[in-house]
Amino acid sequence: MIKLLIWLGITVLLIILAGPIGLIIGIGIGILMIIGSLTEAIGEALSGLFELRSNKDCPACGERIKRKATVCKYCRTDLSTVENE
Ligand SMILES: [Zn+2]
Repeated sequence: MIKLLIWLGITVLLIILAGPIGLIIGIGIGILMIIGSLTEAIGEALSGLFELRSNKDCPACGERIKRKATVCKYCRTDLSTVENE
């Protein structure tokens, strides 16, 4: 939201300084900012998905551990006897 206000300010300033060309530059900056935050969001979603696939919650202590782990590194629970998904 703050980014949007900054962009709006820059665009208004560009329109005042450069007229229609400033508006075009302002829109260009806006598009670049949208693409930037989109790639950021996609990256976060992908790493979250990877984290979800390769990790699981320890059934005993709830800490995030590797899916393949047989012993929890936090509470030392033997996971091979506790559960199998
Ligand atoms: Zn644990």
